Amino acid sequence: MIEENINQLRPTSLKDYIGQEEVKKQIQVFIEACRKRNQPLDHTLLSGPPGVGKTTLASLIATELGSNITITTGSILNKKSDIAGILSSLNEGDILFIDEIHRMNKAVEEILYPAMEDFKLDILVGKGKSARSIRISLPRFTLIGATTKTGMLSSPLLSRFGIVLHFDFYDEKSLSKIVKNTAKRLNIGITEEACLEIAKRSRGTPRIANNILKRVYDYTVVHGKTEIDLDLALQALNFLGIDEFGLNQKDIFYLKTIIEKFENKPVGIKTISSAINEEIDIIEEIIEPYLIRIGFLKKTPRGRVATEKALKHLAII
Ligand code: ADP
Repeated sequence: MIEENINQLRPTSLKDYIGQEEVKKQIQVFIEACRKRNQPLDHTLLSGPPGVGKTTLASLIATELGSNITITTGSILNKKSDIAGILSSLNEGDILFIDEIHRMNKAVEEILYPAMEDFKLDILVGKGKSARSIRISLPRFTLIGATTKTGMLSSPLLSRFGIVLHFDFYDEKSLSKIVKNTAKRLNIGITEEACLEIAKRSRGTPRIANNILKRVYDYTVVHGKTEIDLDLALQALNFLGIDEFGLNQKDIFYLKTIIEKFENKPVGIKTISSAINEEIDIIEEIIEPYLIRIGFLKKTPRGRVATEKALKHLAII
């Protein structure tokens, strides 16, 4: 089984970063402007669904600028001291990348306001009655935040990002190129048709495409083959339970629960969550957006319902 370091799959230059043409065009201009003015990049927010290349782009920005990057995630920044420690260890021009920035604790967020705006850090010294706040200067750094839920960011935080970039899902052609490049990096032989078939079933998401490629390769190796051709890819995808729309067993279970258990009458998210034993976040961020995008699910004010297209696909009508 291939379980390589995730960084091995990441493109190492903006040139290898496939698709997201608008995002790339914009960031290249901003990077160039910083270089010319010899100033750090403005704070940047990357917004888009999971697995579409936000972390990868943040690393590439650091590479292009020749800057160090410190990577952390909003959900582990619970105390003021967590973020104060990170901020005070930054150097001039460094990049601080905070993934899932919408999950950051409010107290942590408040430390970030003066740090982002004035490069100042307020810290509390002493204890009890003798405690007092002192303000120290920070080097000029760039905060890159990534979020799957821009709507959950408070407006004071949102307004401190000078650059906001929105990521889209990928088309099949771009995804197919990503699969081909990943295969090359992992030394996997694969035909163009097989790349395209994997791309078609990857829900517009590079992370899913790379994962499917690895599992299809496992299947290939176990069957004593050295190259993935279309026939083998189809067999493997069938074995993995990923259908021609890119739906997996969990998506099918989700749809069947709504259709069969709740007779396709509008049903609320909490009810579905307990019926399929899946967290609300996963349902809202991963399962539903794709089903809505391919026209299999409708969100109505009274709850979720499967569409006729979904019923036809599951051969229920
Ligand atoms: P996110 O931070 O949005 O969740 P990541 O940056 O972690 O997504 O990307 C997930 C995987 O997909 C990584 O292995 C990365 O190499 C690959 N990937 C994402 N976007 C691209 C792209 N535009 N070109 C090539 N590979 C990509």
